[in-house]
Formats: sequence, structure tokens, C-alpha cells
Amino acid sequence: MIQIILYTGIILLSWSLFGNCQQNKADSILISISEKEIIEYATKLTSAEFDGRLSGSPGYLKSAQWIASKFEEWGIKPMGDNGSYFQYFDNAYTKVFDSGSVSYQFINEKVNIVEKKYHFPEEYFPGQNSGSGTIDGELVYVGFGITAPELGYDDYEGIDVKGKILVFEYGLPVNGENKDIEKWVPYDYHQYKFKNAIAHGAIGWLYINKLANPNTSYNYDIVYAHIGDEVVNDIFNASGKNYKEIRENIVNNLKPNSFELIGKVTITANTKHFEDSKSCNVIGMIEGTDPTLKSEVIIIGAHHDGVGNLGKLLPSALDNASGVVDIMAAARMLAQSPVKPKRSILFIMFGGEECGLLGSTFYVNNPKFPKKKVVCMINLDMVGNGKGLALWGGESYPEISKHFTYANTHFIRRTMRTSEARPVKTRPRTDGAVFTMNGYKSFAIGTTDGVKPVYYHHPLDNVDALTPDIMVDVAKLIYFGLLGVANDDEL
Ligand SMILES: [Zn+2]
Repeated sequence: MIQIILYTGIILLSWSLFGNCQQNKADSILISISEKEIIEYATKLTSAEFDGRLSGSPGYLKSAQWIASKFEEWGIKPMGDNGSYFQYFDNAYTKVFDSGSVSYQFINEKVNIVEKKYHFPEEYFPGQNSGSGTIDGELVYVGFGITAPELGYDDYEGIDVKGKILVFEYGLPVNGENKDIEKWVPYDYHQYKFKNAIAHGAIGWLYINKLANPNTSYNYDIVYAHIGDEVVNDIFNASGKNYKEIRENIVNNLKPNSFELIGKVTITANTKHFEDSKSCNVIGMIEGTDPTLKSEVIIIGAHHDGVGNLGKLLPSALDNASGVVDIMAAARMLAQSPVKPKRSILFIMFGGEECGLLGSTFYVNNPKFPKKKVVCMINLDMVGNGKGLALWGGESYPEISKHFTYANTHFIRRTMRTSEARPVKTRPRTDGAVFTMNGYKSFAIGTTDGVKPVYYHHPLDNVDALTPDIMVDVAKLIYFGLLGVANDDEL
């Protein structure tokens, strides 16, 4: 019964959103949402003006200003530092001026010495925190680049890498199911691998996994790049090694297998590091209308930083202009909605996610509301490609997620998948995980059944990689779901 009363206002509203009932024109303008609006925001965020929104860079800060200007236009209250929308934190970044170069000199089948130059983005990506300059040298494969004596594992044992260029793997040789996974996690960080390589005397490296990644450390004298299958296969084939088999054996036996490779590599990078730069979260709020309940807050967030520009713009559309746009459209509707929330709703557009979850970590350490007053935190990351909807982790908080499933069943009618929240045992990969680890109820809204190819951390992650119709529905889902939670008297 209470449920029915609770939704009455929203159902009436849904008629004005989706139905044909008569109403005045102003209302229909205020609470409608279109693909046009979605595309407009997404086009702006992914434009060259914001230079790929690398956290801490001038382009990022400009995009933060733009979001804040929209919040202000819609009457959303600033909740950052000193009455502004911005919550600042330290965020060093590296400007990459061009895509640099990677080439490999080796002896081919015809016993000729050849030099093969590779292409960005097809075969390699420049290191996003590479030092500037050119290095050349001999190559050593060091597996996962890990020295973990307490786990009886050392990729550097018995091999001299001083003055060499290393080739090593992303990730860990174990997965989340391993009984010692928690002990392995510190070795999963790129920053750790870089430090360990430097400690062993390397001058640079080729990191196996071809993508843009600012979540690394800058080291003045080190030059590095990320490589894909083509480069890996060339190097291993020229050395008479079967790459796939070698990697599989390391993982299956948990036994390092490091060795010198044949040939020489040259890597060039053209960069400048900005050590003292700052980035920010953009925070706005719609204050609740109930004198008591307004002290309780629902947080919804998405990272709005991207992976910048590597000599080619990385528009960072699906990851994660999509999440930001979904929330912006919902925030605009909520701000202009005739149905008002009793509880408060806090919108956080995080910075520094791609640099290692810096913005969300800073927020949980410097919250704007006491944790016990936060009903839940809902995260959106890569939410704009597909046909279905999802509430990842939502099953663990049915009292909250039921409002979203209800909205979908009654108004949106997409297939919706749900799952239970899982404890974070591996390296946290999303802002939502940072909230979970800090004791918040957190779940994620997602899109499923992708209809377009996903270009993760790639120049082709542009507006064409989005499906605006699902984003319209995600914005509606947020709008109805948040109103349901905010006005639930039983919570
Ligand atoms: Zn992301």
C-alpha cells in the first residue's frame, strides 16, 4: 500500500514523460529528455576543446568548468570547496606532445638485418607517463615484472637487466580465485612494476597491453611504450620463442621464466611532466525538501576524466563521458522536476579515476556528508552502449535497488540484469569500489548487450561508439530510481 502511495507522484509524472496526457507546455519542456540532449553533452565533453580530459591537465579543468556551468544553469547547489563546485586534489600529469616511435631491429628469416617501425595506434601506444627522449638497447623478457619473496616468486631471479629494455606483462600471474590473492594485489599496480624495473637497473620497457594508461608513475630517465600482439610476436618469433606458450606456462605453474631476447629496440617519447598540478571533483547537490530527511543523501557519481591526447585525441566517450552525460541529463530533469526529492541527492563527477582512482579516494577521505548519512553510492562507468540495463551489486541492497527495478518494469521496460555486491579482493578498478572498500553501500548502473564495438582507451572511443537511445533510458532510470529512493518513507 505504502509502495503504491509512494509511486503515485512518480507515476503521474511518468505520464507527462512518456504518455500523451494534456499538460502545459512548460512542464513538457522541463521534464522531457531526448537523444539530442545526450548527443549534445557527449559531443561537447569529447571535443578537442577538452583535449581528452586527462585529469590535472588544462583540458580537464576546462571540462570541469563546463559541467559546473550546466549545474549552475539548472540551479544545482555547489558542494565543492569554498562555495564552489570544485573539490581539488593533487594530480600530477604528463603532457604527451606526439605519438613518439617504437622500432625493432632483428634478423629475419632471410638472415637480413631489418628494422621494423611500428604504428600508433595499430601496433603500439606511447607511454602516458614516459620520460622524454630516445632509448635503444637489448631486450629482456621478465614475465610479470614481480619480485615477491614471501610468495616464492621472482621474475628477476638470476637475470641481469642493467641497461636493458624490458618486456613485461600487465596484471598478475594469478587470478582472483587464488587463495593468496590479497598478498598478490600490491604487485598488480603499474607503479610497483615500474619501481621494481628501475630498482633492477632497466632503462625503459615495452609494456604488453596496447592501450592508453595514465595510471602509471613518471620517471625522468625512463622511456617506455605499450605494445600489442604484432610487436610481441615479432620479438618472440625473432628469438625463436613461442610467446603464448611461455606466458601460459608461467601462469599455470606459477614459475617465472625470464630470458634475453634477440634484437634491439628503439623507443622515442616527446613529453613534459607537470608534477605540481591539481585536479578536482565536480560536486553539486539537489537539497531534499523534507526538514528531517534532507540530512540524508544519495550519492550518484561518474568519473569525467579521460585518457587525454597521445598525439591523437582520445575522446574517452564510452569511458566515461557516457556516465557523466547520463547523470547530467538526469540531474537536469531532477532539478526541474515538479516532484521534489525529500532526501538530498549529491552528484559527483570524479577526476583522477584513470590516474588511479584519485578523485573518489580523495572524496571518501574528505567527505561532504558523514558516511552514516549516506543512503548509498551509485556509480556509472562506461554506461552507453547496448540494449539492456544492469544493476551490478544492486541485489545486495534490495531496499534501494527495488526503486530502479520498479522504474524499469513500469516505465522503461528494457531487460535488466542484476547481481550481488562482491567484496573487493583484487586491485580496485572503479570509483564505486573505493566507496565499497570504505564501508558505503555501493552499486553500479550499467548497460549490457553492447551493439557497438568497444574501443577501450583508444582514439576510436568517440561519440560514434555510443548508443544514445540506451543513454536516454539510463537517464530516465536514474531520474525515477533516485526519486523513488529519495521519497521512500520506509527506508
Ligand atoms: Zn572508466
